[in-house]
Formats: sequence, C-alpha cells, structure tokens
Amino acid sequence: MSVDYTTHHNIALLTLNNPPVNGLGHASRAGVVAGIERALADPAIEAMVITGAGRAFSGGADITEFNTPKATAAPMLGAVIAALEASAKPIVAALHSVAMGGGLELALGAHYRVASAQTQIALPEVKLGLLPGAGGTQRLPRATGVEIALRLISTGAVESAQALAHTGLFDQVIESAVAEDVVVAALAFAVEVAKRPGPHPKLRDRAIDSRDPAVAAALYQSARELAARRARGQPAQLKCIAAIERGVSAGFDAGLAFERECFMELVASPESRALRHAFFAERAAAKIPGVGSATAVRPIGVVGVVGAGTMGRGIAMSFAQAGLPVLLLELRDEVLQNGLSLIRSHYQTQVASGKLSAAAAARCIELIRPSLAYEDLAQADLIVEAVFEEWAVKQQVFQGLDAVAKAGAILASNTSTLDLNRIAAFTSRPADVVGLHFFSPAQVMKLLEVVRGAHTSPEVLATVMKLAKKIGKTAVVSGVCDGFIGNRMIEQYLRQALFMLEEGALPQQIDRAVEQFGFAMGPFRMSDLAGNDIGWAIRRRRALERPDFVYPKIADKLCELGRFGQKTGAGWYDYPAGTRQAVPAAAVEALIMQTAAADGIARRELSDSEIVERLVFALVNEGAEILEEGIAARASDIDMVYLTGYGFPLSRGGPMFYADSLGLRHVCQSIQHFQAQPNGAVWRISPRLARLAQEARGFNESRD
Ligand code: NAD
Repeated sequence: MSVDYTTHHNIALLTLNNPPVNGLGHASRAGVVAGIERALADPAIEAMVITGAGRAFSGGADITEFNTPKATAAPMLGAVIAALEASAKPIVAALHSVAMGGGLELALGAHYRVASAQTQIALPEVKLGLLPGAGGTQRLPRATGVEIALRLISTGAVESAQALAHTGLFDQVIESAVAEDVVVAALAFAVEVAKRPGPHPKLRDRAIDSRDPAVAAALYQSARELAARRARGQPAQLKCIAAIERGVSAGFDAGLAFERECFMELVASPESRALRHAFFAERAAAKIPGVGSATAVRPIGVVGVVGAGTMGRGIAMSFAQAGLPVLLLELRDEVLQNGLSLIRSHYQTQVASGKLSAAAAARCIELIRPSLAYEDLAQADLIVEAVFEEWAVKQQVFQGLDAVAKAGAILASNTSTLDLNRIAAFTSRPADVVGLHFFSPAQVMKLLEVVRGAHTSPEVLATVMKLAKKIGKTAVVSGVCDGFIGNRMIEQYLRQALFMLEEGALPQQIDRAVEQFGFAMGPFRMSDLAGNDIGWAIRRRRALERPDFVYPKIADKLCELGRFGQKTGAGWYDYPAGTRQAVPAAAVEALIMQTAAADGIARRELSDSEIVERLVFALVNEGAEILEEGIAARASDIDMVYLTGYGFPLSRGGPMFYADSLGLRHVCQSIQHFQAQPNGAVWRISPRLARLAQEARGFNESRD
C-alpha cells in the first residue's frame, strides 16, 4: 500500500508509505488521488491531512521508476497537485524530516502547510539539469516571495523550515522534530480550518509580492550573473530564473505552461542527461560484485595513519573532520612536529576564511594524536599507510603493521603505482589489505579509489565503502593494475598532449582547448601544479619496465632545465614571483621548436577539436581496456573517477558517457584517423571499443 487512509473523527489522514523516502512513484500518485476522492465522497469527512510515513514527508520523484513507463503513467504529479488544489474540503500538508522536489511541490498544492522546524526544504531539480516540473517555479514564489524562490530553485539549496518560517510558506511551524507531533498539530489545524467557509486558499491565486519593477529586474539580473558563474554551459539555472520571471509577469497559468515547455526542453538536453547519468553512476559505484547487503561490516573507531607527509596529513584531516580519532605516526619527532604544525596552520586558514568555526577546527586538531611508536597502532581498527613510494619502505612498514595491528584491523595503502598484491604479501593477512588511493589534497578531493587486491575480503571492502561515505568521499572500486583507473588513463591523455606539442601545438593552446571543452584545468597547468618531476620519475621507471611505451622527449627536456612547475616558479609556464598565474613562457616555446627541428618533425597547425578529441579519446580507449580487463566493474565507475577526481566536465557525464553520446563508431573512426598521423603507432584500438562500435552499442549499455 503506497498511501494509507485512516480517519480521525471528521478528518481523513492520507499517509504516503513508500520507503525509504516516500518517492512519488505511480502507486503513490494514484493513491493520493484515490484518497482524496474517498474523502470527498464521505460526508462524515470535513478536511484532510496529507503526510509521509517514516523518515520523510516525501523526497520527490521515485528514482527506481526513472526511465520506466511508470514515471510517465497517469496520474502525473501535476494532476495529483491539481486534485489537491481543487478539493472543496481543505487539505493540510503535515511536513516533517524531508520535503523535497516533487514532495515539496505536492505540499504546495495543499491549502495549508504545518511543518516541523527541522524539516529540510528544497527543490533540487536544477542539480540534475532540470527545473521543478509540477508547478514549483510558480507556487513557491507565491509562497515565499521572488527572492527566496530564486535562491532555492536556481541553486537547489536545502534550507530548514525554521529558516523559512518568516515567509508565507507555512501556516504553522512547530518545534518538535517528531513526525507524530507534526501530524497531531496538522490534525488539530485541520479541525479549525474545516470550520472556515470555503473556498480554501490556493497558492496559485495568491498575489505575488509586488515589488518595484526595477528591484525585481535587479534580482533576476543578479541571479543570472550568479548562474553564469556557477554553471558554465548548463542551461537549467537560467531556465529556472526565466520560469519564475514569466509567472510573475504573465500570471500563473502562462507561467505553468512555460515551466512545462522548459522542463521538456531540459529533460532532453545533453547536460541534463549527463547530470542524471552522474547521479545514477554515484549510486551504482557503491555496488560491488561479490559484496552484498548481507556482508558484515567491521566497526571502525580509531584510525591510524602512517606518514605525516603531503598525503598522510590530508588523510588524517579527512578522518578527523568526520569525527574519527586518528593516530598519526612518523619515524622522527621533527618530521612529526612539522606535520602537526602544517595541519594546525591549515585549520587556522580555514577559520580565518570563515570556512570552519574555531570550535570545529579545535576539535579536528584534538582528534589527531601524534605518535612515534608503531605499538600505539595496536588500538587502530584501520591503518592507512602514506609513506614514500619505495618498495623497501613499503615492505618494512607492512611487516611492521602486521606485527602490531590487532586481529581484524584493516591495513590500507595509499600507493599510487605499486602492486597492491605484492604489498599484501608482506603481511600474514592479505584478506585484510586494501588500497585506499586518496587524491591530493586528500582533505578536499571527493574521489577515493578503493583498490581490491586478489585476496581482499568482501567484509573489508564493505567496511571501507561505508567509511568512505562517512568521510564524504565518492568511492570507486578498482582492480590492481599500474595506475589503477584514474592514473592509468591520464597517462595516455598526457602522452597525447606531449605528442601534440611536438607536432605543432603550444601548451597554452592545448590547455585553452580542453578548458573550453569544460575541463577544470588543461594538462600543462595541471602538470605544473602537481610537479613535472613526478611524471619524469614515472617515465624513467617505464623506460626500464616497458621500453615499448614510447614517450615524446619534450617533457624530459623541460625537467632537465629544472622547470618542475609552480614549486620552482617555472614549468610549462612561467610563474611570476609569488603568483600562481600561468604566463606563456618564451623559453618553453623555444625548447619545443628546437626539439621538433632536431627530430625533423614538420610542425603543423592543430585545430582545437583535434586537440580535444585526441585527449578525450585517449581516455576513452584506455577506459575501454580497463573494462575489458575487469579492472573497473562498469563504465559508469570510470565516469565517476573522472568527474570527481580529474575535473572532467560534469555536464558531459564523464569520458565513457561522453563517448557513448557521440557514438562509438565516431570515436573509432577518429582514432583510425589519428593512427594514420606521425605518432599514430601508439594508438591501439581497444577490442572492447571496436566490438561495441561494430554492434552500434555504448559502454554504458554494455551487456558483457
Ligand atoms: P611524502 O614524501 O610527502 O610523505 C611521506 C612521509 O612518510 C614522510 O613524511 C616520511 O617521513 C614518512 N615515512 C617514511 N617512511 C616511514 C616509516 N617507515 N614510518 C613512518 N613514516 C614514514 O609523500 P606523499 O606525497 O605524502 O606520498 C605518500 C604516499 O601516497 C605514496 O605512496 C604516494 O605514491 C601516495 N600518493 C601520493 C599522492 C600525491 O599527490 N602526493 C597522491 C596519491 C597517492
């Protein structure tokens, strides 16, 4: 039963009952209409209350019905809301916990609203590249005024009923957060309003706050400017603003029609498709083959972090910020003290810039306890190693951890490049060993690659996935291979960027082209930020391990000049003293010309579209190989890695989704074209890509 119907004297209580958040699936929508009809037909009933069972009034659309016929089956939400609004008997919405999206729109169709102060209120459709499509853009401004509606609808922000209590959104706000108390208050309210003569108020008829037109125009303008800054290339925010504006100027019905038109346009837009893909991809990434909901999860009370370097400090802060006590271990006191003082100064900066309260910063600092003794780690339930990337050091550390860690403790490595199975073999408990590959800065970056070794137990995986959520990370599972998912792919991308320098482009042209495509940062600015010496070291190792892996010489030559990037004030760009501003460098241009001339390369003009295709398709082709080898469980996991860790434009949905949207035949044909060019021999089309292209299928709909 999706909607329960009970009576309380002369009031009918309709309770949405579709766990976990009373999503407005087809049965719920039909249930509400049936409930209203039943109450209207019963002469003993004088008013209705509508509420939600369990943890929500309603979280909005039922995501399990997305892309199914049920999502568009009658009655649609607009019709349900019309039924509420048209009811001759008054309807009171009793809001508690969460009233979001379609849930809030439903409540806006009621004649009256009673809410718990703690209720979370939002119209988050814009985050999926949409706008509220069931009258939200028209009714909310009439309830709260234009300014607040603009803010809520165009940002999707969540605000409490308490914070909105001063607006005309609610008829009564009660202090208690207990759902039953809200229902009791709403029933009492319904008894009162049932005595009032009809017709009962409808938001559609409420006069909108009639501001001075100049003030209103300024409001829309500043909302537009904010939207342009925040959501580059995404049309939804602007449509939200336009729909509100239309309803104010042309009236409710015209506004509602315009809202529908915008919704239909947005739902078919590539940006919204990409955002919806990302939404489902994040949920899918939590599902791991071989790990079910019945898999036991170990309790994690205390976390140990070994190494207080760049990563160790960030990892320690990530756990402390989630309230977990951390033991931070180093070999020498001097290094430890330096690490702690860097942590303190990080938090001081956070407090000074208003990002964190002084009390929260103090709590984090207090939660990170320093240690110089491995024995202290005996208390830890999880130990994350972030020491030097050298085999001898990793071996020593893991043997040490094996000796002191308690039974059942999880031993994790933050290694970026080393074989996790070999690391696990240093211990007597490989089932308890897992990779936790954080990204720098670890306390900020959302992505966490969870590396599943050959022997990692399902229990360990389930535990770290749960923990990842607790510390606010998006976790994606990767199998063991060089570079895991993200770095293995980025290497192909960077290599293409370097080839293009030799063939005819300059760093600034390549960066500009991919930044215009939507990447947060182009490959050369990114390398300058990370340090060019890191790639140099990887290339030297590669030269020994895989001599067939050809690299352009230009990057090594840059490093031979000591141009390591921002940290040395010069890399692919010059960085004028004390700034992070990348200025095109004459010395780099000269180096590129000399190298090309020495190798007899005839430089040619490269178009921006060739640049983007070569970079993005290098990611796609390696991603296809990663799928083929089973390193990633699904294409959308690869997309999550790139959206959350590598600045791939969200509005394009990740490399694999983007390739699907272009059509894999086109991707293959472009790669074949690249293969015919001077450095074309490095392209080997992945069998998975070739096969899917041949079958006219996509990575994200792949059945194998
Ligand atoms: P780092 O050089 O900044 O820090 C390493 C720290 O480990 C040093 O403070 C060192 O004193 C300490 N250490 C060395 N041996 C130790 C031991 N036996 N016991 C305790 N402490 C010891 O290095 P980092 O950049 O933080 O990298 C650490 C690990 O994280 C490496 O495996 C690296 O591949 C990986 N990683 C780095 C990045 C990055 O961007 N820097 C990103 C992801 C992963």
